[in-house]
Amino acid sequence: MTQSPATRVRTRFAPSPTGFLHLGGARTALYAWAYAKHHQGDFVLRIEDTDLERSTPEAVQAILDGMAWLGLTPDEGPFYQMQHMTRYKAVITQMLADGTAYHCYSTPEEVNAMRERARELGLKPKYDGTWRPELGKTLPVVPANQAPVVRFKNPLSGATQWHDMVKGPISINNEELDDLIIARPDGTPTYNFCVVVDDWDMNITHVLRGDDHVNNTPRQINILKALNAPLPEYGHLPMILGPDGEKLSKRHGAVSVMAYEQEGYLAEAMINYLARLGWSHGDEEIFSREQLVQWFDSNSLSKSASQWDPKKLNWVNAHYIKAADNHWLADAISPRLVALGADPLKIDLPQAVELLKDRCETLVQLTEASLLFCGAPVAPDPELVAKHINDEVRRAVADFTQEATEVQWQRQAIGALIKSVLAQHQMKMPQLAIPLRLIVAGTTQTPAIDAVLEIMGREAVLKRLRSF
Ligand code: GLU
Repeated sequence: MTQSPATRVRTRFAPSPTGFLHLGGARTALYAWAYAKHHQGDFVLRIEDTDLERSTPEAVQAILDGMAWLGLTPDEGPFYQMQHMTRYKAVITQMLADGTAYHCYSTPEEVNAMRERARELGLKPKYDGTWRPELGKTLPVVPANQAPVVRFKNPLSGATQWHDMVKGPISINNEELDDLIIARPDGTPTYNFCVVVDDWDMNITHVLRGDDHVNNTPRQINILKALNAPLPEYGHLPMILGPDGEKLSKRHGAVSVMAYEQEGYLAEAMINYLARLGWSHGDEEIFSREQLVQWFDSNSLSKSASQWDPKKLNWVNAHYIKAADNHWLADAISPRLVALGADPLKIDLPQAVELLKDRCETLVQLTEASLLFCGAPVAPDPELVAKHINDEVRRAVADFTQEATEVQWQRQAIGALIKSVLAQHQMKMPQLAIPLRLIVAGTTQTPAIDAVLEIMGREAVLKRLRSF
């Protein structure tokens, strides 16, 4: 058996561009990336676009966008399988010449009948090898005007084994495997074959992919062996389940990575969360991309399916928002504010962000909270006004308004002014703070009122107070 040479680690992410980059795909890409980086190797992006009916340029773009957002930059690629057709066909021609593949003229109906017969005999439904050349065997007469498929001459006995990086040793009896069709009647190569040729040509040393591909692996290994190609290591990642234990799907909310960008998740939080979904390093929950690369090896890959947990993702995201630089956050939410018709330029947005970020789990929440300062004024609910604002309060607000023209517009000074008005009117803090919140913000709940007033700006505050 040819062993993979002890060379530079090369991994790949090989999505089929048939939709957006979904969470499972993003995790696979992340693991392949992290594994390569951990070993100072290369991460290759290969777009598997040979299914012409299902592949679209929009889906290719969605994959590239998702990877760019997550910062999973390939060292090589994107490569496109459709650009490798000549190469695949050349390998097929070579295999026909070597006798590791053969032409098969059985029609699909005949193959179905063969499978049915095998089933009736209690055997594994398979192609029966009618056209498989063997020493001393006479093949049927080639039918006229019928294009053949090309089948791989799979070993008839023995077992195909590999030590899966995730699942451990796996062994499949070759008897269970069909002679796989590697080229269709029109000569186009089939899925498993293209994967094999590319993994070989791209010197891929480690194939990390979803465990929906585990059945393809013995077939791919056998073809690689027939080609005398080195065998990569394989690791099959268990799937991601929704919070209800079912396979993660649209029912559970967004499954497209870019939807998370829109919903205000930070790429770093997403990377951190996805990394923990099927891999661990002790009890570490929050770690940087650099730490991930430093720690990521195949020893701690989980064998069991992991569960998507939106609450935990929010917790991780809140952590990253809290830790993020205020100017960076301000830049990130500015376009979102503008899209909502607000004018972030009229306030010190980083200062607002500093005040608000501790209580926000997403950038969408941070944006909505920032509207307090730079969005259109919100009229207070008359019922709340009636409840919190009586004549005495009105007089106190009027005093505050008057003195607010003079005071230095800065949190401490505003706070001192509020206290002095409270003292003049023999009131307690909430008796003035709540009415002020109602009048300037249209709500009874805001962060500290002195900080809110400072950020809102004297002019805006006075305008709202005077027009109340
Ligand atoms: N193109 C396959 C997919 O999107 C992945 C193939 C592979 O990783 O070998 O599921």
